[in-house]
Amino acid sequence: MAKATIEEKQYLVRFRADKESHLKILDQTLCLEKCPDKPCTYFCPGEVYKFEGDRIQVGYEGCHECGSCRIGCPHDNIEWKYPKGGYGVVFRLA
Ligand code: SF4
Ligand code: SF4
Repeated sequence: MAKATIEEKQYLVRFRADKESHLKILDQTLCLEKCPDKPCTYFCPGEVYKFEGDRIQVGYEGCHECGSCRIGCPHDNIEWKYPKGGYGVVFRLA
């Protein structure tokens, strides 16, 4: 049996998004002025963080709840918590 590709596995992920974000950038100025590489825009498997204009936009609806941004931000500038009960990622097993 052939192994599933990452794209095929991603297709199995579903989300039940809350109206409020469970992720928060604490200081956008710090992102702009002190973080030239902006690693959050490439370590996040859900591509949640995007640098647009002069701000990091947070597409929390696509968060996989992997927790990487808790340790991946070099400035500890992301407040992370799990979504409220009943919301968040839903994994389906094929
Ligand atoms: S890694 Fe942290 S400090 Fe850098 S841009 Fe992302 S949230 Fe901002
Ligand atoms: S927990 Fe994982 S998927 Fe969610 S925003 Fe952080 S790095 Fe991205």
